[in-house]
Amino acid sequence: MKKILLIDDSKTIISSLKIDIDLLIHDIEILIAYSFSEASNIIRRHKDDIFIAVVDLALPDCDDGKAVLLTLSHKIPTIVLTANDDVNLKKVLLEKEILDYIRKDSPNAGKYIANLISKIIRNSLTTALVVDDSQLFRDAFAKDLKKLHINVLEAKDGQEALDIMEDNEQNVSLILTDYNMPNVDGIELTSKLREKYDKDSLSIIALSATDDNRALSEFIKAGANDFITKPHKFEELNVRVNSNLDILDLFQKTKDLANKDFLTGSYNRRYFFEASEMIVAKNVRKDSPVAVATLDIDHFKRVNDTHGHDVGDVAIQEIAKVLDKTLRDSDLAARFGGEEYCILLEDISEDDTFALFEKIRLNFEENEIKIDELTLKYTVSLGVAYGKCNDINELIKVSDNALYEAKDNGRNRVIIHNT
Ligand code: GH3
Ligand code: MG
Ligand code: MG
Repeated sequence: MKKILLIDDSKTIISSLKIDIDLLIHDIEILIAYSFSEASNIIRRHKDDIFIAVVDLALPDCDDGKAVLLTLSHKIPTIVLTANDDVNLKKVLLEKEILDYIRKDSPNAGKYIANLISKIIRNSLTTALVVDDSQLFRDAFAKDLKKLHINVLEAKDGQEALDIMEDNEQNVSLILTDYNMPNVDGIELTSKLREKYDKDSLSIIALSATDDNRALSEFIKAGANDFITKPHKFEELNVRVNSNLDILDLFQKTKDLANKDFLTGSYNRRYFFEASEMIVAKNVRKDSPVAVATLDIDHFKRVNDTHGHDVGDVAIQEIAKVLDKTLRDSDLAARFGGEEYCILLEDISEDDTFALFEKIRLNFEENEIKIDELTLKYTVSLGVAYGKCNDINELIKVSDNALYEAKDNGRNRVIIHNT
């Protein structure tokens, strides 16, 4: 798990910062140091896991700025927090490539910092492709994108970019492209990419000289989202890239709202049927079998009755976590309602299917969920349908029947039926 280090001697500042960060960012651990010596200890222990540090300039047990030099010397990206308006110190620190310099008394300082951190996390999960035939320009754009913590790939013309985007294994979501290039130019590249990738999954930023308005309008017509003039300034790139990534995030959030279940973050029933159509059609063409499993928690009512609905909710959330450990990215799992999940697998033999669900069953049996003082354990039953499939509903029905049989035969077991 990623870790953030907060260094400040004020308990009030730390606790309000922590609230702002917790509200915006999930799956992150916050480490706290109230002094330089505590910070040194924490860095010694967690150095490689600390992703960002927010550091107070003035601490009781060191000279001003010394803690900032400490985090920077460990190559930890650093945001400086200060009550101090020492212009000279600020100049010295800004030259040292800190992420930002924020006054504690500025309004919404905590929200600003949380936002900055969440953008850096988002960017570190983003891959951009810079397409330009000039090595000089490629280097300049790559360098500034890396400053924003974005991963960068490069292509020296449109054809090389199309090759990289053929199956997009590197998951590129942002392209910066020049206009004039050998083989395939920027506008042709943009049109070709738009045949395959919509604006909800790929953002294209055109790079063009200031005086070339015609190229710009052609770029936009071909499907570019935005443009940056060459040679560029870092601030312009920063603003345009981040605002285009924000738009991609919004698209993703909208898709998640429609496709995912609120409690667990798993896909919902609606999405399962939509996504299963393509998988079923593909396997009909290949004349290959698929596997559909229905998973249900055993005696779940007892969990709710004994520990309350909130603990029941945690138990349901745990299903996704346990499944995640064993399933592949290409497997489709969705919450069908209550404490029931449906899973669709392809490219798998019957023996492997049984072995996989048996392993999942065992993972649940051995899993201990810690909720405050309570250690919760539960088992699941699985009904599996295996065979060639024209209609997903039929396989779901068969897996449901197999699930009933598993429940009837004492629960905590996998029953597989051929179709
Ligand atoms: P079995 O082993 O036969 O499956 O027994 P069971 O107790 O699990 O039986 P059943 O499937 O009928 O119980 C499902 C319970 O799940 C009933 C319902 O109150 C509860 N439930 C459904 N949705 C939620 C939810 O979102 N949160 C919580 N906490 N409980 C839920
Ligand atoms: Mg149940
Ligand atoms: Mg049930």
